[in-house]
Amino acid sequence: MKKKSQRVSPAAKVMTAYDRYVIPSYGRSPLVIVRGRGSWLWDIEGKKYLDFFPGYAVSGLGHCHPNIVRAIKRQAGLLIHLPNIYYNPLQARLAELIVAHAFPGKCFFCNSGAEANEAAIKLARRAGHAQGRYEIVSMLDSFHGRTIATVTVTGQKKYQEGFGPLLPGVVHVPFGDIGAVSGAVNEKTCAVILEPIQGEGGINVAPPEYFVALRRLCDARGVLLVMDEVQTGMGRTGRYFAHQHYGIRPDVMTLAKTLGGGVAIGAMVAGSRYADLLQPGSHASTFGGNPLACAAAVATFDTIEDEELLKYVRRMGNYLRTRLVRLAARFPFVKEVRGEGLMLGMHLGIDGKAVVAECLKRGMLINATGDNVLRMMPAMTVKRNEIDRAIKIVEDVFRAVR
Ligand SMILES: *Cc1c(COP(=O)(O)O)cnc(C)c1O
Repeated sequence: MKKKSQRVSPAAKVMTAYDRYVIPSYGRSPLVIVRGRGSWLWDIEGKKYLDFFPGYAVSGLGHCHPNIVRAIKRQAGLLIHLPNIYYNPLQARLAELIVAHAFPGKCFFCNSGAEANEAAIKLARRAGHAQGRYEIVSMLDSFHGRTIATVTVTGQKKYQEGFGPLLPGVVHVPFGDIGAVSGAVNEKTCAVILEPIQGEGGINVAPPEYFVALRRLCDARGVLLVMDEVQTGMGRTGRYFAHQHYGIRPDVMTLAKTLGGGVAIGAMVAGSRYADLLQPGSHASTFGGNPLACAAAVATFDTIEDEELLKYVRRMGNYLRTRLVRLAARFPFVKEVRGEGLMLGMHLGIDGKAVVAECLKRGMLINATGDNVLRMMPAMTVKRNEIDRAIKIVEDVFRAVR
């Protein structure tokens, strides 16, 4: 007979299997999650959590948005995968939607942010090839992915240590400093790459004039301006793409995260001038732009339109910001509230990890980045009462940890 005391909980079983069989490259919270809906997640024991950081913005429409679920189910019964040597209406429709909302140009589809940035790096190298241009100017505190090329372009040493030698020809300058970019660009430079708002680096913002000056500088020196909108894109900041706040257009833009409404898909969008540089055989991704992922991404665009999410994000973003600023006024260790739309950061004078751990104890999932920036990126569909709940929890935590 089995003794009750020897029974291992289902959660412990899962975590033990991870210990044994999953490469430990992630720091993980001891949560076993099995279900999600909107801004909520449920663990294996049925406990519910308010998710104020759904999948690093991948689940930007909230978990399991009914439109996405319906689109995937329908497409799964029609066609899941198709190699890129054939045409499919969904990839056509998605490319058309992206270009219509971004700028005249063409798309290359892949499966992740890193892969989209890889494509952008290759395109920039190809564009500069004839003139011997291959160097890339990137920003300190940036994040562009974990492949060798994208981790080299990423301006944070902690992600690079132990993986050298890295890609040659990458120079890092401080974000927001136009003089530094100007000094770093030379006759070997093919591209400047940056995020419109640095996500992983701590929700760092720069004024519109910086981006206008960057655009002018890239034009004057014959260098591609590449905007990594993997995190900021698809409505997160209250516009489809964050660069649209600054009144400029990049030559190349990369997307992933929210693009597929939770399904893996990435895209590189090249402006008309560079859109035909990659000719047959020059670049590829086997899974890129498959019908299932494209169906999810088309449904994401349709949902943003049908639910008027850009307007909603601006409204909820203003509300969340107001609440955060009010909170900041009462807790002197809060140094700054910054960001745009529903991509907000609270710069703390205390350890962010402790705040995250305390929030978790109170049933809320949130992220701290750059050690002491609390990153507020709820689903774009977050409800006002969910924001109120989050604020109440953060307030309780601030009182407990101060
Ligand atoms: C998440 C992220 C990436 C990397 O995306 P993956 O899908 O993890 O490869 C690249 N750039 C930015 C700005 C990101 O936020």
